Amino acid sequence: MADFNFVTPSTCFQCSRCTHCCSLDVMLSDEELTSLADNVDSKWRTTKKVMDGSNLTCSLLQDNACKIYESRPKLCRVYPFFAIPAADLERFGIPVPDAAIHLIGDDGEKYLIIYDDACPGVGRGVACNWSEIVSLTISHLSEFDRHKEST
Ligand code: SF4
Ligand code: SF4
Repeated sequence: MADFNFVTPSTCFQCSRCTHCCSLDVMLSDEELTSLADNVDSKWRTTKKVMDGSNLTCSLLQDNACKIYESRPKLCRVYPFFAIPAADLERFGIPVPDAAIHLIGDDGEKYLIIYDDACPGVGRGVACNWSEIVSLTISHLSEFDRHKEST
């Protein structure tokens, strides 16, 4: 079973601009696939990867900075965090620590937030706007649901 790291009241974050996350697969919605045009891998619905030295990295990364930072995909905005409905965690029997924070999303559902501990920014800086993480995740997931319904 997946071993999740849950956001608690003491979780903080500050991006160190290490660019690790720009080598990961970023799943894109239909709208993002269209707007990013030549920079997508349409077969896998991700941003296109290019070789950077011996590493594969996003084609939109230039000089260690995102070329489309202000309009980057939603998954890039929420990383290293992601919101999960509490009901899904319960359905799959995933244990939730008592300290995990719970938030009510724009859809009225209860959410918890998990994070990728491969990101060195977790544990630095200050608390994030957790409600915004939930809103962006819901928006990302709803765009995916629309895509699934249309295929
Ligand atoms: S992996 Fe984390 S610290 Fe590194 S660039 Fe991405 S968000 Fe920032
Ligand atoms: S779109 Fe920008 S932030 Fe997202 S993976 Fe590519 S370079 Fe990184």
